[in-house]
Amino acid sequence: MYHIKYLFLILFFSAIQPGNLSAAEIFADSHIHYNWDHREETSTQEVVDILKKHNVGLTIVAGTPSELALELREKGGDWIIPFFSPYIHEAGKRDWYMDEQVIKNADSGLKNGQYFGIGEVHFMNGFQPKTDNRIFLQLIELAGKYRVPMLIHIDSGNEITFQKLCLANPDIKMIFAHAGGNLRAEHIEKILSRCDNVWIDFAARDPWRYGGISKEDHTLLPEWKTLVLKYPDRFITGTDPVWKVTRWSTWDTGDEGWTHYQKLYDYHWTWLNELPEEVRQKIAWKNTQAILKK
Ligand SMILES: [Zn+2]
Repeated sequence: MYHIKYLFLILFFSAIQPGNLSAAEIFADSHIHYNWDHREETSTQEVVDILKKHNVGLTIVAGTPSELALELREKGGDWIIPFFSPYIHEAGKRDWYMDEQVIKNADSGLKNGQYFGIGEVHFMNGFQPKTDNRIFLQLIELAGKYRVPMLIHIDSGNEITFQKLCLANPDIKMIFAHAGGNLRAEHIEKILSRCDNVWIDFAARDPWRYGGISKEDHTLLPEWKTLVLKYPDRFITGTDPVWKVTRWSTWDTGDEGWTHYQKLYDYHWTWLNELPEEVRQKIAWKNTQAILKK
């Protein structure tokens, strides 16, 4: 008998607290990873449970190695959208750009409909590879052939490198991963104004890792808010629960990133909730659907 009373109480209180309601809004977590070192800490079933509990209705996932993203979809269902990661073995991030097998795997995985995009591909300032390397150019060709988007992380000091890519491939949808680092709002604005085929992602810009987009209260810095409001159709975000990027990490243990999901999720909803409703719904949900639409 008591539990029915409690249920009414809960319903009553949740109905009069609009703040709580928006937190339960459907969310496209547009940038997650499920890597070999995540699996040591968190099973596919646990990841699916975490996402469901947070009302994630759609998620883009990349695995290292790539097949781990497929395992997650198999466990969770077709709302989990695997991208083909060119990191086809545990240390693939180091040698993918010299490995012909990457192209073979990408071609077959895209052809048989297992993957719905390509990425994440990283280019770090001062390191190999560069964006003109042969394997990467072939991946771009495959994205065109199979009409799938690419998730690209470019850490250069200005917008030129990425802008060259998006201008040279106007028919390929490109997601610029982790905006808010070396490229500031003024750089991103140049990309957005010149390339209609680009979307901007704010994953991993929380204060516990890279920061760069928000104030202490976790709402957007004025320059980013202005840009988001100017281009509300062009931004997406995600939690990106990779934890080994922090300075406390040790490299001989698994990655416990998925255990931090709640605070990453809360962080993104804090800045989202400060935006006008229509803009918030676009960034949290609708824009990701537009990217994935063929
Ligand atoms: Zn990532």
